[in-house]
Amino acid sequence: DIVYLNGELLAKKDAKISVLDRGFLFADGIYEVIPVYNSTPFRLKQHLDRLSYCLKQLNIINPHSDIEWKNIIRTLIERNGGGHLSIYLQVTRGVSNDRNQVIDEVMTPTVMLLASPLLVNEESIETASATLLEDIRWQHCDIKSIALLGNIMLRNKAQQLGCDEAILHRDNLVTEGSTSNVFMVKFREVYTPPQNQLILGGITRDVIIELAEESGLKVHQENITVDDLLSADEVWISSSSREISPITQIDGKIIGSGQVGPVANVLHSEFQAFKKTLIN
Ligand code: PMP
Repeated sequence: DIVYLNGELLAKKDAKISVLDRGFLFADGIYEVIPVYNSTPFRLKQHLDRLSYCLKQLNIINPHSDIEWKNIIRTLIERNGGGHLSIYLQVTRGVSNDRNQVIDEVMTPTVMLLASPLLVNEESIETASATLLEDIRWQHCDIKSIALLGNIMLRNKAQQLGCDEAILHRDNLVTEGSTSNVFMVKFREVYTPPQNQLILGGITRDVIIELAEESGLKVHQENITVDDLLSADEVWISSSSREISPITQIDGKIIGSGQVGPVANVLHSEFQAFKKTLIN
């Protein structure tokens, strides 16, 4: 396991940061999770664009150009043996002079990347269960912040309830999952909440919208109420690590047929085919 830290490639156990790193003290940083199929990063440009957007929101200077990022990622993939990987990339504001919320004038961001095996089942779709929980997070969920306390509390509450994911709602409207975006199908049309500050603009979400539209499905990016979701024909969540994962039960209530629905099935196949066009 080789880790990238500030220009160096190190064994995981040797990669260390300062206690004055603002990422450690304040969770003052941004992250990305980039899936790699057959040694090829998937939708890398979109991940780098989102990284750039998020850094800008926090006034952290992007420490690398896209070409530099691509080279770092390529080297990390090679040094970790290639294949199917999940790249975790984190940029924090850097190491400060002391613990002070006010930011030092000159800061050098801390850059860390690690690679772990990507566990996706390409043969069949795996279903999951969810619980509906109130979205207790902040109002800038479009920023992929490493500050994840809200998500962690919600995801673990779901775990305690025996569910695979927490689907969140604010004022009776579905936002997203604690680690994913949410879609539903009603009368063979696809619905997903609009992209705004209350959700993360998922890279997988965009791919699914594109694939659905190319397949001739109508996609509505509009508000979904909790009742809409519970009475949907199909529900699925999406993320880089799970691709499309159908939700067949929410708080014990069976969604649709309780099986993988036809639309999820088609989009899962389209997704696999799309990946193959990019990596061969
Ligand atoms: N929303 C949240 C809160 C997430 O943590 C994730 C996964 N990082 C997503 C959505 C899905 O984003 P992506 O498809 O880019 O992985």
